[in-house]
Amino acid sequence: MSEFNKKFNNKYIFILSLWIFIFLATFIFNIYTNKQLENHTLSSIETLSIEGSININSSITNKFNILETVAKNISTEDLLNPKEITKSFSNIVQANGFKRMAITTLDGTAYCDNGEIVNISDRDYFKASIEGKRFINSIVSSKLDGRRSNVFSIPIFGYGEVVAVLWASILTDEFYKELNLNIMNELGETLIIDSNGNIIVSEGKIALSSDDFNLFNSIDTKINIKNLDIMKKDFENLNTGYIKLKSNEKNNYIMYYAKLDYNNWWLVSSINNSTIKGYYYNTKITIIIFDILFILLISIIFISLFNKEKRNHKKLKSIAYTDTITEGKNDIFLKNNISNFINKNENLAFISLEIINIKSIVTIVGLKNTEFLLKEVYTYLNNILNNDEIVVHSYFGEYKLFIKYTNIKEFTKRLEDINFQKIDENIKFLMGIYLLDKCDVSYEDMCSYVSIAKETLNNNNINNNKYMIYNKKMHKREVDKLRLEEDIKNAIENKEFKAWFQPKYGKDGKTVIGAEALIRWYKYGSIISPYIFIPICEANGLIRKIDELIFEDVCKNIRKWINNNKKVVPICVNLSRSYLNKVDFIDSLQKYIDKYKISKDLINFEITESSLIGNENKLKDIVSLLHKKGFKVLVDDFGVGYSSIKAISYVNFDALKIDKSFIDGIGEEKWEYIIKYTINLANSLGMLVVAEGVETEEQYKFLLDCNCDMFQGYYFNRPMDSNDFSKLI
Ligand code: C2E
Ligand code: CA
Ligand code: CA
Repeated sequence: MSEFNKKFNNKYIFILSLWIFIFLATFIFNIYTNKQLENHTLSSIETLSIEGSININSSITNKFNILETVAKNISTEDLLNPKEITKSFSNIVQANGFKRMAITTLDGTAYCDNGEIVNISDRDYFKASIEGKRFINSIVSSKLDGRRSNVFSIPIFGYGEVVAVLWASILTDEFYKELNLNIMNELGETLIIDSNGNIIVSEGKIALSSDDFNLFNSIDTKINIKNLDIMKKDFENLNTGYIKLKSNEKNNYIMYYAKLDYNNWWLVSSINNSTIKGYYYNTKITIIIFDILFILLISIIFISLFNKEKRNHKKLKSIAYTDTITEGKNDIFLKNNISNFINKNENLAFISLEIINIKSIVTIVGLKNTEFLLKEVYTYLNNILNNDEIVVHSYFGEYKLFIKYTNIKEFTKRLEDINFQKIDENIKFLMGIYLLDKCDVSYEDMCSYVSIAKETLNNNNINNNKYMIYNKKMHKREVDKLRLEEDIKNAIENKEFKAWFQPKYGKDGKTVIGAEALIRWYKYGSIISPYIFIPICEANGLIRKIDELIFEDVCKNIRKWINNNKKVVPICVNLSRSYLNKVDFIDSLQKYIDKYKISKDLINFEITESSLIGNENKLKDIVSLLHKKGFKVLVDDFGVGYSSIKAISYVNFDALKIDKSFIDGIGEEKWEYIIKYTINLANSLGMLVVAEGVETEEQYKFLLDCNCDMFQGYYFNRPMDSNDFSKLI
């Protein structure tokens, strides 16, 4: 996956995770608020229960107080004729909502306010009050009319002893109303029970077997035994609380209980779970709606964010995949989409087509026109390709292509046919080709294979071939290159690199007025060209050491020639980009100047303008530094760089060296014009002009006519070792 897609996917995963996180958070928040709501409802119901129990206590106390007041007014004499007194009770009965009121003598005979006489000696309230207690009984069926009733009873004292019992009965339903027990407002039922579960007062909603007024018996013990036990234990410990219960219909309900002041009585409220839920249903629904709206909003935001990201990604991708010069695809696109082009069942060729004289083209037509030309080449290549083939412009003057073929003959014919005559007849190009034999080759490998093929072609192009197909033997050469690197390291250690000297001649073509120091390396019985090892050393940084070695060798030779009374001419030393980038390079040079006691005007430097491409100020600083130290500086390979002319406009070079490729053009009108123009330009800027690579008399004569100052080339002399050179001066 490309870095690009990776970044996008990470963002996508982040947005998705954030969304899931918010979704879950909302979900958890929902559960939490639900729970809170439930708790809140439960606690408000609990409060209702407690408030209810307080009301009930005072209501019951009130009833007892009435009986107490009545009892106080009954004397022992009155008790002799109880029937008579009870007649006066009817007002009290009516005023206080009682059903009956009666005085009961110690034998259990009850004299009721309506004149009836019943025996209640078996009733628990009678038994309790005869013992001196206030009592309210649980629900009983009235002995008089069989209706559900409750009875309040108190003892009547005479001379410190219980002499009778006063009681008043009340219809349970009336009592219930009076106690305001519908505190749950239709949400559930509230009743009063004793600690054994016997119902004292109820509305009668709870299903009870006809005669059994016991709440515990109405609860399905099979499924609720545990919670029921909790409730019973709370009753024992006089704790207020609640339990959750299940009824037969799988309906859950909650039972609250709060202790009352009388007889181990408990106020019990039972409320259906669904009722509780219904109680906060609206709030809950509102929250859910808000949750959904929130999630929706967040989703919309995220989706639009995601879409925006996708659009940006697409846009960026198209920018990242577009070549600015040709406006077509670039090699990043090719690299990231390589799998789309490779198909196991087809023969495929990967090609690097390089315009080899691109630098000269820039010099001649300028950068803008060159870019236009590169675009035309791209269009040309694009037009000769089939739909499932591709070409990209990968870097200035290099194109990469994927081409399909059925047989090599047809394929090479297609390659032969490529020509850019119609675009610009001066375009020279090479193609390195890799025929894909297996599909799992990486893009990088393919690029290195086509480079190797190109390089091989470049080095041995006797027949002016346009293309070279990569093979394994070429690869061997690459491996050899690695071995060479090892050898170079050893050669540096052993100071195997030596300076040779190529003389520079004055206008007469006879007087040696200078020389260029050129590196030579004896290895494997012959001299290895710097064109082979210098690029390697530039790539691995060893060039710094090599430049220093040569500089020292030059100083050493000059010292030797001086000591031998030779007429020493200034020697030009080549300095590489890498060496100039070394912070203390000037100190190293000074070190050898001092060591061999060399006058600075005997050393000049050649540097190429392209050695500090893109860092114009640095080039300027380096040249001024060398000037300050007393050295002369010459611009090498003038004309092949991108900005040679620009360079001489802002850097004060002392001399300009016209590149051999210009000199080769002598004989062609266009090139001759360029050379003339260049020399004029240099002269007008006060620079000397050196021509390198002068091979013929014709070239020398032409250059002389153009007012060139110095000449260097095979026509005069080849580079030679220091012994041979010392004989020349
Ligand atoms: P360059 O600085 O452009 O050096 C000129 C090259 O042209 C030399 O090749 C020289 O032998 C060759 N030459 C001179 N006259 C003629 C001619 O008439 N015909 C032809 N065909 N060639 C001619 P050489 O010595 O092989 O050096 C190649 C390149 O290696 C140099 O190009 C320079 O860039 C680099 N180089 C050589 N010595 C050093 C060195 O001591 N330090 C650094 N940094 N680079 C060096
Ligand atoms: Ca040079
Ligand atoms: Ca040169």
